[in-house]
Amino acid sequence: MTANSQRRVLLAKPRGYCAGVDRAVQTVEIALEKYGAPIYVRKQIVHNVHVVKTLQERGAIFVDETEEVPEGAIVVFSAHGVAPAVHEEADGLNLRTIDATCPLVTKVHKEAVRFAAQDYDILLIGHEGHEEVIGTTGEAPDHIHLVDGPDDVAGVQVRDPEKVAWLSQTTLSVDETIATVEKLRERFPQLMDPPSDDICYATQNRQTAVKEMAARAQLVIVVGSTNSSNSVRLVEVAKDHGADDAYLVDYAEHIDPAWLEGVTTVGVTSGASVPDELVQEVLAWLAERGFGEVEEIESVPEHMRFALPKDLRKDLRITPV
Ligand code: SF4
Repeated sequence: MTANSQRRVLLAKPRGYCAGVDRAVQTVEIALEKYGAPIYVRKQIVHNVHVVKTLQERGAIFVDETEEVPEGAIVVFSAHGVAPAVHEEADGLNLRTIDATCPLVTKVHKEAVRFAAQDYDILLIGHEGHEEVIGTTGEAPDHIHLVDGPDDVAGVQVRDPEKVAWLSQTTLSVDETIATVEKLRERFPQLMDPPSDDICYATQNRQTAVKEMAARAQLVIVVGSTNSSNSVRLVEVAKDHGADDAYLVDYAEHIDPAWLEGVTTVGVTSGASVPDELVQEVLAWLAERGFGEVEEIESVPEHMRFALPKDLRKDLRITPV
């Protein structure tokens, strides 16, 4: 057997686009077709360099703040969700809004509103400064305290230790979140759980798939952008579950050939905001270097789909199924 014939790629499934990202990207594409350019988008529609660049080329204008959008224009809110104050600001500027917030983020917003209405202190596990965390916190700023991992637990201050609930960002590490919740429960034994998992199905499934793959690969390449929380988590999970090395790359050209030294099995996956064409380019890059054999490892079947935002459906006269 030659050295090359031993080389192979394990390709994780599911990987790439989740239902929320697919819906958000389609929202901007359809808005561009239906209303014409420019379409303004508040923040990156999804956290992926390539997706944002492609939409920009088609006429989307990405802004950081609502006030940058000209009066009366159309603005799309990103998949990560916005605080109620952002909707109010858009109304004040007479903007036409299309809300592409992922329904699974909206679910967490509703949980925050419900716990706040019952006057709970809400411990939101998430990463400081992440857009989703900012949006969720904006639903109940007087009730929410951010807990950025297990090390933050000791410093948490609440009004009544018997009236405390936890929620989380949708794209965290499942294992680290369990560790954080365990520590929180040691401090607050009456801690109330969310009605269902906040870490979304796509984040969980991609982590399950990468765990299975990393146990059999020396190197794991995760396609995704550095500001994509779920992509960064995949790198960490791969390293924690058996890969000697794991790297995040936006494009195949960012792979360093030195990473392949002494490696026979490479695992490949991608974050929830990554189009599969970028994964295919990585596979082609690897094939050129002797890693042409690809075995897809399916861990969890995935069939989730979300209807387009209602603001858009109305204009397209689509009835949700
Ligand atoms: S990663 Fe999860 S929460 Fe985020 S857009 Fe995708 S499905 Fe929605």
